[in-house]
This record gives sequence, structure tokens and C-alpha cells, in this order.
Amino acid sequence: MGSRLRPYMTDYGPLILDGGLATELEAQGTNLQGDPLWSARLLQTNPQAIRDAHYRFLLSGADVITTATYQASIEGFIAHLDVSSECARELLMSGVQLAKESVNRFVSDSRPTEQRRPLVAGSVGPYGAFLHNGSEYTGAYAEEMSVEELKVWHRQQVDCLAAAGADLVAFETIPSLKEAEALVELLREFPNSKAWLSFSCKDGRCISDGSLFTDAVQIANRSMQLVAVGVNCCPPALVEPLLDSARSLLSPDLSWVVYPNSGEEWDTEQGWLTSGKTSASIPELCHTWMKQGAALIGGCCRIGPAHITELRQQLKGRCSPASAV
Ligand SMILES: [Zn+2]
Repeated sequence: MGSRLRPYMTDYGPLILDGGLATELEAQGTNLQGDPLWSARLLQTNPQAIRDAHYRFLLSGADVITTATYQASIEGFIAHLDVSSECARELLMSGVQLAKESVNRFVSDSRPTEQRRPLVAGSVGPYGAFLHNGSEYTGAYAEEMSVEELKVWHRQQVDCLAAAGADLVAFETIPSLKEAEALVELLREFPNSKAWLSFSCKDGRCISDGSLFTDAVQIANRSMQLVAVGVNCCPPALVEPLLDSARSLLSPDLSWVVYPNSGEEWDTEQGWLTSGKTSASIPELCHTWMKQGAALIGGCCRIGPAHITELRQQLKGRCSPASAV
């Protein structure tokens, strides 16, 4: 485990992340398909659904829950919710508040012997998620943008999450090196904030824009505020070769963060193709990742609370004590 993550560890073994928040919201009957704000719309229309989804992940054993702000932005809220910029800012901050309320409920419902106080990670998705044109999976937009422009885009969101008191910022599903550079630079403007930086990947060596994962790790090494770097929303089978490709480069201060999707295929027209054969699952592969140095392990799209329970059983050899509540 990298040294910067140590203050966050309250238990033995890796910290367990949640699964896909939107996956769980949809499993409970919310329709997010095709929505330009995705799960972030519910910050305005159904905050209770977000609290409940967070709570189910906490019961399933997550040590860290991630806010419903992946696709949230001041500009997006003004355009799609017809609200003022002040109201948009409050909505963004409410993502952290809802997650904290769920943590408080979880802690007060837990047995007194339960020492676990879960963390709240404020989700920041790539600029391409706002564009809502599939480019979040290629990073193509970054070719036309400067590092400075990408920093301007992300600044308000990071500012809101930090102001609302997120324990960590989760820069996630980042497809491009340039955007990663922008985020690492931007983070310095918030010197009290810690973060992880997680990339989407196209194969066992490259992130989504085709750059080598090793180059992505070198960017992370430059930051004094990152606790972890890694990959999310890729098939589980890609994780081991990706981490292996960069194993000699990772700074001793950093850990790996790993939260793949289920391995099912995403089709921009049809959504998740559930019929295809899926690769080995997260609970089957988690010990390998742990041996490789992963200290934050969870799931992304198509991973629900039941998978997180299974992951916790694999990693900690027991159910979450709170699951008996
Ligand atoms: Zn995902």
C-alpha cells in the first residue's frame, strides 16, 4: 500500500469501493438511459433514491461510496434543469451531502462494535461525459482543447466537491493524458484535498485515447495529493496486464485503485449487451490485484451491492458486520 493511503485505512486489507451508482438506481426502477445528466438529474428530482442506493452499498460492505456527480456540472444543470448558477452549485454540493447523510445513517444503525466509518469520494467524470456524444470513451475532444481549457471546465465541480467536504475526489473514467495533466494541475489549487485518478482503458496496455498506461501513471506520480492511480469501467480481465505494465513505475507514495465493470459489452445504440460471455469476475480476480498492490478495489457499471458483498467476503473473509442489521 502506498504511504498516502495509510491515514484512511481503518481495517486490514484493501478499502472496498462501491459499485455502479447508476446501475443500482436503475435496478430500483429509475430510467437514466440517454439522459444528458445521467444519475446527476436525481440530485434534483429524487435525492432519496440516491441516499437509498448509497445506503445499500454501505450495507453490502463498501468502505468508500462515490457521489452522484459524475456527469454533474454547473453548465449542464443550467442547460438541462433550467436553474440558476447558484442553484446548480448547491445541487452539485448536495451530492456530497446526500452521501454523508447515508454514511451517518449507516453509522448510527451499525452495532457499537462496528468501527468502520465509510468515506465519501466526490465523483468527477471526464469532460466527454458532459458532451454526451460517446467521446468520453475515446478522449477525442481533448485533442481540440488545451490543458488550461480542461482545467477551467473541471474547476467549478472540484471546487463544489471540496467545499462540500468530500473526503476524497474521484477523478474517474478519464480517457486522455491531457485531461489527466489538467486534473493533476487543478488539484494543486485545492491543497487540502486528496484524490485518486482512474483511467478508462482500451486494452491491456493503453488508456482509451491510445496512450500507454505507463505514461498515465507517470503523470499521477507528479502529484503530491493523489493517494492512488488506476483503472475503472474496463473489463476485469484487463486490470492485471495494465497494472503489470506499470508496476516498476508506481511511486511508493501511491497505491493502485481498481474498479472495473462487469465485463459485459457497452453498445452506444443498445446499451449493455448482457448476452455476451463475460470474463472472470471481480471477486475471482481481486486477490491477484491485491498482490499487485491494489489498495482500493470495487466495481463500476453493472456492479451492484450483491457483487460488493461477494467482493468483501473474498477480501476480508467475512460479511460486513453491518449487513446483519
Ligand atoms: Zn462504469
